[in-house]
Amino acid sequence: MTDRDPAADLRRIAFCLERALEPSYRVKAFRTAAATVDGLQREELEHRAATGSLTELPGIGKVTATVIAESLAGEEPVYLRRVESLGLTPVAQAADDLRQQLRGDCHTHSDWSDGGSPIEEMAVAARDLGHEYVVLTDHSPRLTVARGLSPERLREQLDLVGEINERLSPFRILTGIEVDINLDGSLDQEPELLDRLDVVVASVHSKLRMERDEMTARMVAAISNPHTDVLGHCTGRIVTGKGRPESEFDAEIVFAACARFDVAVEINSRPERLDPPKRLLRLAYEAGCRFSIDTDAHAPGQLTWQPLGCERAVLTGIEADRVVNTWSADELLSWTRAAAG
Ligand SMILES: [Zn+2]
Ligand SMILES: [Zn+2]
Repeated sequence: MTDRDPAADLRRIAFCLERALEPSYRVKAFRTAAATVDGLQREELEHRAATGSLTELPGIGKVTATVIAESLAGEEPVYLRRVESLGLTPVAQAADDLRQQLRGDCHTHSDWSDGGSPIEEMAVAARDLGHEYVVLTDHSPRLTVARGLSPERLREQLDLVGEINERLSPFRILTGIEVDINLDGSLDQEPELLDRLDVVVASVHSKLRMERDEMTARMVAAISNPHTDVLGHCTGRIVTGKGRPESEFDAEIVFAACARFDVAVEINSRPERLDPPKRLLRLAYEAGCRFSIDTDAHAPGQLTWQPLGCERAVLTGIEADRVVNTWSADELLSWTRAAAG
């Protein structure tokens, strides 16, 4: 049994309440109870906890008696746990907590398309960051500027990933693609191949200035495609340098479709993207969407960018249970397969 000090737990509760700007009269009960506990032997406290007579002591009420009893039993008092975590954690801390819960990254590129490093280097870097898996999502054929993979090259890549996975096990590279959403909302790869892949991220890369209604229809068509698992960087905005404005679409309709077809909205962590903006993240959250917090890394060092996305999730109230890459690889796969079913 862990030895806890009931007086220290009471004072810690007071400290947390004060830090959360609670008025001192409400905090006083905990400091008073701590002072009472200071003057007593542990045996007496234990006897009173066993017989339910702690509240007979001066300055100890029901709440503080419960704290003392739990502490004596070696448990972290429930009240303490509540005040330690509820609304008291600074954003950075909460973002870090969320990052620690991420077990993989669902959007990364290798030198097979426009990334800078071989697949294995990306995988080893992801493993060394503590990930259990990384999804390799090189570009699709029509994105020629990014050396998008033809069906033949993608088939070759799948064979290579299989070989690398044998070497890196238990770490896993999951197969995937960042497939272009064509102008008519269809996806830029053979359906048979999309079906074979573990994770399909669908993104708009062309004609980003399309008229609003057309863009909405285009995106909804891609979202409703049973192969689509994640909607990549949905507005296409660039927030650094000369920048690029957001694409225009009816976000309520698009996010309702994501919720309906169980497609995760990507929180793209690239510093120049940070896409979608927070107002849209809130909207997607309210629509009931899931999320995937990804780096869209094109080089190993960029795999460290997830905290930027985590911070935005925290700021918009998105909890870990909405984030698909907090799941294990197997859980993720059963989700993408069900979604594809
Ligand atoms: Zn992209
Ligand atoms: Zn990408």
